[in-house]
Amino acid sequence: MRIGSMWKDVSKSFFERPVTERYPFERHATPPRLRGLLHWDYTTCIGCGLCQKDCPAEAIEVEIVDRKAKLFNFTYHADRCTFCAQCVQSCNKGSLSLLHDEWELAALNKTPFCFAWHSPEPENIKE
Ligand code: SF4
Ligand code: SF4
Repeated sequence: MRIGSMWKDVSKSFFERPVTERYPFERHATPPRLRGLLHWDYTTCIGCGLCQKDCPAEAIEVEIVDRKAKLFNFTYHADRCTFCAQCVQSCNKGSLSLLHDEWELAALNKTPFCFAWHSPEPENIKE
């Protein structure tokens, strides 16, 4: 590169806005259809286990604690999840969704990728 054209680019950069984004200090809204972290709605789940059966990545475990009392344990392994949304399709109760604004999932070890959720005891549910 000739010094002349290089100097032109350098001087131009002083007066123009940078093309790079100041992430993570500035963030854009994520598109509504972006597939991020799985969300489980314990209030509608019936513990049928279809999501676990259909998940191709074996990322979901559903454990029935007490079917009558609607108590379930739901374990989600985000490090196995391929964000294919098959579980969302399979759930007839609409209990699963992929959160479009929960996508920053990088971590230094596997621990933060395992989510163990439990439906609360009926007496602990606040109306
Ligand atoms: S498919 Fe839906 S209702 Fe059935 S266990 Fe999974 S989340 Fe619950
Ligand atoms: S999005 Fe796909 S890979 Fe992830 S838990 Fe659901 S079915 Fe499994």
